[in-house]
Amino acid sequence: MIRIGVLALQGAVREHMRSLEACGVEAVAIKRKEELNEVDGLILPGGESTAMRRLIDKYDFMDALKDFARVGKPMFGTCAGLILLAKELEGYSEPHIGVMDIKVERNSFGRQVDSFEADLAIKDVADSFPAVFIRAPHIVEAGENVEILSKHNDRIVAAREGQFLGCSFHPELTDNHRLTAYFVDMVKEAKAKHLV
Ligand code: GLN
Repeated sequence: MIRIGVLALQGAVREHMRSLEACGVEAVAIKRKEELNEVDGLILPGGESTAMRRLIDKYDFMDALKDFARVGKPMFGTCAGLILLAKELEGYSEPHIGVMDIKVERNSFGRQVDSFEADLAIKDVADSFPAVFIRAPHIVEAGENVEILSKHNDRIVAAREGQFLGCSFHPELTDNHRLTAYFVDMVKEAKAKHLV
């Protein structure tokens, strides 16, 4: 059985768990760092990255999250989670977890459109995916090993680098679970590789 964790310190946790369950895998709310050992992949949800970072430090999660990445387990950062994964943040000197070779800008879709929905073409996922953007970041630069999966208005809003998947929007807020299913497949592949 595949078990996928959702970092449950802050943000849209329950919706991701529901989406994972709809994809037929077990979803685990991760509240303590030891629980990371029990899962094959991890979703970093949307919310507020500064608040999430504060809680990561408070509950001593940072090294465990970096170890999770180091052993090759897949991680999927959505919105604030994308900010946590990025190696570089526009306007900041230090990243958070800093494992995915992308540069991310926060709150980059302007104040007047704090929140909007757009139908996106996402490579290998869907021709038209209902993406909900909430004070969303975007990917300003991507390293050579990063595969760009989707753009909105010429801005990169979804990308993959090996075990890491990230998107600007909230894929868990509608009943379309295809991006979650794409991540579930990444986790299944990584787990199969480690078993042989
Ligand atoms: N603007 C938030 C941040 O910078 C992210 C918004 C979201 O996750 N919906 O952390």
